[in-house]
Amino acid sequence: MHWRLHLFLLWVGVCDGLSSPASTSTTASGKSLLRMNSASRHTLYDLPVSNNGARCRLILYKKGITTSEVDIVSPAELGGLKSEEYQQVNPQGKMPALVIHNNGVDPSSSFGIAESDTISRYLMSTYATTGPSFQPDLARSNLMARFHDIYLTTIQGCLYKPTPPFGVYQTRQDALLEFQSQLQVLEDLVVDDGQYLCGSDISYADAAIFPTLVFAAFMMPKFDGAAEGFQTTLPPKLNQYLEHVRTYDSAFGKVYNEIMDVLEGSWEQERKRWDGIWLAGQRDTDPDTIFDKIVAKEISAGIVRETDDILAFTDINPAAPAHILVIPKNRNGLSRLQKATPEHVEILGKLMVVAGEIARDESLGFGPDGARIVVNDGPAAGQEVPHLHIHVIGGRAMAWPPG
Ligand code: AMP
Repeated sequence: MHWRLHLFLLWVGVCDGLSSPASTSTTASGKSLLRMNSASRHTLYDLPVSNNGARCRLILYKKGITTSEVDIVSPAELGGLKSEEYQQVNPQGKMPALVIHNNGVDPSSSFGIAESDTISRYLMSTYATTGPSFQPDLARSNLMARFHDIYLTTIQGCLYKPTPPFGVYQTRQDALLEFQSQLQVLEDLVVDDGQYLCGSDISYADAAIFPTLVFAAFMMPKFDGAAEGFQTTLPPKLNQYLEHVRTYDSAFGKVYNEIMDVLEGSWEQERKRWDGIWLAGQRDTDPDTIFDKIVAKEISAGIVRETDDILAFTDINPAAPAHILVIPKNRNGLSRLQKATPEHVEILGKLMVVAGEIARDESLGFGPDGARIVVNDGPAAGQEVPHLHIHVIGGRAMAWPPG
């Protein structure tokens, strides 16, 4: 399909209802798109907290592009991200979006584009000779930006979303470890000489990756101890790069301050945004139990099943001929079932599957007629060990109701 047709299709909703460049434009819903008559050549709908938009802002700042060329306004001006007006420009309802006005000369040739990569490439092309080029054809830079967009951005939710999934990952631990290894992939691509990612000249990779580094450097320490091997700091070259450019390059410093103002201010202090997030704001403060010692093999137990995250062993004080306990190796907050959150869905499912496997294992003393599979939750139910465990009890008939 020809590119003009693409752009036309993207734009067609926004143009709908435009009568003349001087009039107040309206959409199908009758709401006005006052910005359509903006004095500036473009309107970038974005907010300082938007990580994606930050790459576009960095390009604008670095190139010294003024607001008469690209005015940056909040999506609220079009009624917010979920509004019909905004979604005519970006049907995904996400920041950023760029509306390209035609200085009121020929509104039918105007159009809107979305997605930070698309907008950035448009800006690099439209303002190719204004300020640094950002080397849009540099292979290393494009590779880094693409790796970032495909493998880092898609799981970045593990740093701020309260519940899984984080991309394809069901647990925050797995996503954090993958986030870290993808940072390492970028680290290995950083050129050693020069202050920017690909050497002494700024490239598109800087615009794409710098905002994520700001966010990651701020959030990663909050997940200290979240997973074995998880580092709370950026890899050294990326960390040094972040510190250097934010200090010595004013465009980077500006974007850094925009992001940090929101993170430290309204997100952290006003909204207490991390409080509800497992590991960032909530932690398991209960003391270790004897089950941790069994998991660490510091005391022996009759282990009957072991996977990466589950251990099953015979109960030391069996209530029936067959009595096995199934536990998560890492308690991860599950001192009792009432502590379960959506973050625990995957491990809870795995525990149930193992409990079912054990209940049909006749070599462990279970009979074909079934077993009692129970969780004692709290003292009233007789829970003694504050580390979630499923009792699988069998080898004899059970009474109901239980005592
Ligand atoms: P609950 O009463 O539901 O907390 O169950 C705790 C279970 O752990 C009890 O049935 C105990 O017999 C069992 N238990 C405690 N210590 C050990 C141990 N060292 N090895 C195996 N089972 C144990």
